[in-house]
Amino acid sequence: MSDTNLTAILHKKGDIRLEDCPIPEPGPGQVQLCMQHVGICGSDVHYWQHGYIGDFVVRAPMVLGHEASGIVSKLGEGVTNLNIGDRVAIEPGVPCRRCMDCKKGRYNLCADMKFCATPPYDGNLARYYVHDADFCYKLPDHVSTEEGALLEPLSVGVHACRRAGVTLGSKVLVCGAGPIGLVNLLVAKATGASQVCVTDIDEKRLVMAKEMGADCVVKVTSKDPKEVAAQVIEALGEKPDFTIECSGAPPSTRTAIFATKSGGCVVLVGMGPPSVELPIIDAAVREVDIRGVFRYVNCYPTALNMVASGAVNVKPLITHRFKLEDSIQAFETTLRGEGIKVMIECKK
Ligand code: NAD
Ligand code: ZN
Repeated sequence: MSDTNLTAILHKKGDIRLEDCPIPEPGPGQVQLCMQHVGICGSDVHYWQHGYIGDFVVRAPMVLGHEASGIVSKLGEGVTNLNIGDRVAIEPGVPCRRCMDCKKGRYNLCADMKFCATPPYDGNLARYYVHDADFCYKLPDHVSTEEGALLEPLSVGVHACRRAGVTLGSKVLVCGAGPIGLVNLLVAKATGASQVCVTDIDEKRLVMAKEMGADCVVKVTSKDPKEVAAQVIEALGEKPDFTIECSGAPPSTRTAIFATKSGGCVVLVGMGPPSVELPIIDAAVREVDIRGVFRYVNCYPTALNMVASGAVNVKPLITHRFKLEDSIQAFETTLRGEGIKVMIECKK
């Protein structure tokens, strides 16, 4: 335990500083967490490099980090689901709970979502942080706090596979083998997909995909989406039922549509440019559904059970480890695109 609260703050584009901040006190329904592990996400790096993502602009200093786990160090008034000392995974987005989207159970679409490290809300790359207790999930003893932090990207995979409709025996194409493509691979396999093909332009990432269970991989060298689709179909022996696009690259999104079986579904996880030219008539006449994916909803419990049961092993995703004090080096490592997941240990 520490008596100071070292915190990684993005002051403005290109300017991360480690500063001592007051230790926050939990309000009603909240817990104070002694932070354990925080993974760095592409979005944290994007805010650091560019100062915005779409309409979300860093206008005031913001604490980074949202893939996180901690140990409950104080209970706010009325908290009954957790005890001091519980190790928890932190679901970083707390919705309003009152709007129609929340009431329909699609709280990821809530317009009043308070999501860690999405301006103007602070993240949790710090020694201490407070969060709503019902968005903290107690980890069983055999699940590490690193795995707890990885439930965040894993939940993106759970949601995307659910939105796509991946089921027993499915053939699945995952485009892009970054952390998000890889968690989708893991979830698709654990859901019973018979074959998963993964594409990327980077050989190293395809090697990782193979190691993590991809049945086949296609290295993308052509800008012609039909040509890449043909390579995927050849590798799988037929068209995939479902395609999970995790690169955001426009040519890859075109490939996703051409490759997918008639009557199948493409889910858009990757976020590239806001407007992209797509072979929309091919999708229309073959009834290939195109579905959006935004973060996750009601996925943390599933992601946790998958890890706890051994159905998925997320540990190999971690390729680099740093201490909170060395957060800037951790961000520089992520920016250089080395490895897959950079994990920061927050405890002193
Ligand atoms: P990443 O940049 O590490 O991975 C993207 C991968 O795509 C890289 O390995 C890259 O080499 C590969 N790629 C580039 N062009 C390609 C092409 N033409 N064909 C195939 N692969 C190609 O990023 P990540 O952290 O894995 O995230 C992936 C995407 O998912 C990002 O766009 C991110 O913004 C998005 N994302 C969306 C959600 C959501 O809620 N929808 C959540 C998290 C991340
Ligand atoms: Zn709401």
